[in-house]
Amino acid sequence: MKVPSLEGEMFMTAVYAPSARASCRSCQAKIAKDELRLSNIVDEDHYHQQLHYHADCFQLKPDFKNATYKDIFHVENLTKADQEKVKAILEKLQKMEYKKKPQQKKANSKSKNNKQKKSELEDGGDSGDDNKKTKKQRKEVAKKDKKLETTKKAESYESQSDEDEPGILVLYDKPQKEEFRKIQQDLEKKTAGQLKSMLKANDQTQMGNKAELIERIADCMIKGCLEKCPNCSGGRPKFNPTQKVFKCPGYMDDTEFRFCNKVYGPKDLKRIPWVDV
Ligand SMILES: [Zn+2]
Ligand SMILES: [Zn+2]
Repeated sequence: MKVPSLEGEMFMTAVYAPSARASCRSCQAKIAKDELRLSNIVDEDHYHQQLHYHADCFQLKPDFKNATYKDIFHVENLTKADQEKVKAILEKLQKMEYKKKPQQKKANSKSKNNKQKKSELEDGGDSGDDNKKTKKQRKEVAKKDKKLETTKKAESYESQSDEDEPGILVLYDKPQKEEFRKIQQDLEKKTAGQLKSMLKANDQTQMGNKAELIERIADCMIKGCLEKCPNCSGGRPKFNPTQKVFKCPGYMDDTEFRFCNKVYGPKDLKRIPWVDV
């Protein structure tokens, strides 16, 4: 879907980043090659602007508040799982957009526009790689992903190869990893309900499948429970194993979503000792 804007035709794209050159407009961090990347693009004869984002950092233009994920260009070349992810992100952002009070919304979009103009000026030389990409190249990327998916599947049949281990373990030394495995095995005997009440007692999030609950508890037991984000005081910073940083996704307060995107080093956040219940 393309919509007219002041600068020209505007549209969104979803691709696996073809290079690691672009930085995210929200968090300023580099977007890794092959990482899922969402973009707002304006395309006009003499004017071309691309604003790239990590999928989790994407900022929705008000013009797309009624778009569906199928209106996003190239989305069909993503894996099924990533298509679902893009759909969820879009719908979450649209829900937030609707929830804002009309007056607030107007003020917000105005100040956003001003900011946008400024960043466009700084943006001049940033010419795009997506649009130059031929169909064939895109197909190759899609093929590569399929291959990757099959390899991943094959790996999960083998027991505990290194690639399977939880992302958080990149911060662990060898004895800590052994302890982690031991705790994992012990917790396997508990029900999901028991695991959740353990997390609740320690003020940790109870979302995720059983394996994820176990990993979270094991990490809390060994290193302590992560504090909430000191910047927005509501978000729960999420670990990114590739960049080895914690990033705050923001949080939903009573009425609206609070954006944060604050990034923390592995040792920046306080760890509160785990309490057994
Ligand atoms: Zn980002
Ligand atoms: Zn935060």
